[in-house]
Amino acid sequence: MIIKANKSIALVAHDNKKADLVKWLKKNESALLQHCFYSTGTTGKTIAKEIDLELTPLHSGPLGGDQQIGALISEGKIDVLIFFLDPLEAMPHDSDVKALMRLAAVWNIPLACNEATADFLISSPNFNNEYERTLPDFTAYKQRKIPKK
Ligand code: PGA
Repeated sequence: MIIKANKSIALVAHDNKKADLVKWLKKNESALLQHCFYSTGTTGKTIAKEIDLELTPLHSGPLGGDQQIGALISEGKIDVLIFFLDPLEAMPHDSDVKALMRLAAVWNIPLACNEATADFLISSPNFNNEYERTLPDFTAYKQRKIPKK
């Protein structure tokens, strides 16, 4: 599957990481201009106060925003997921976060969970150019035999 040079990027950050994400976006603003963005609600609001990015806000993460991003991934509408996780705080919506990361793995979407990985992603030539992403073949899974009672 060819991913266009202008990508759809989902942005999420837990509360203690929102400032870090904004800082990272500011640092990389010029490399980000050609892309379009989706974001969970509060992350999006925080970003919009600080940077002028074309951003589609979704629900707040714990209210379904993480699952909305997961659904967009499964529909082929998200090319990259940048999710700055707070690994030191238990979240009421841990299961949503896990589900979102699982769908990124299922659909072979690049996923950065921290700043260093985001740095590696953005410094890749694939970030601002076309990229051929392997689309997993789910045929065998879809055609699997379901045991009859
Ligand atoms: P938020 O959600 O951007 O609405 O704070 C982030 C999250 O999933 O924790």
